[in-house]
Amino acid sequence: MTQDGCVFCAIARGQAEASVVYEDASVLAFMDLQPVTPGHLLVIPKAHSAGLGDLPEEAGIQVWRAAHRLAGALRASGLRCEGVNLFLADGEAAFQEVFHVHLHVFPRFAGDPFRIDADWRVHERDRLDRTAAAVRKGLAASRAAGGPGIMPA
Ligand SMILES: [Zn+2]
Repeated sequence: MTQDGCVFCAIARGQAEASVVYEDASVLAFMDLQPVTPGHLLVIPKAHSAGLGDLPEEAGIQVWRAAHRLAGALRASGLRCEGVNLFLADGEAAFQEVFHVHLHVFPRFAGDPFRIDADWRVHERDRLDRTAAAVRKGLAASRAAGGPGIMPA
């Protein structure tokens, strides 16, 4: 399944230029055009899904499997790689810019330019417990709606 006007679908069809590093029946991995560090890869399902909400679980597993292997490949590549980040942006508020699911896999090293700015303060246990309850409620709702409900009831 592809979507007209989707650049990652075009890459998956071989109709747009990309520096491909890995391909199988369901997954493609290629160099990010704007690498945060040299070696920055994007792993995509070949079938179009805009975000996690419409990504079949099996496709997510296949994307993760490829990313896991590619993280090892980066460490063995000779590129500077003291660590690896996997990063997935789901939704505009999460800085998703191309609405075809993609998992970033990129080398990290001391002094590299990648930053995540956040408030990392420790929260109180009762607040964490209330938040956990909300997430469990969401998980039950997702399961009831036929979505991915991977935790036992
Ligand atoms: Zn697409």
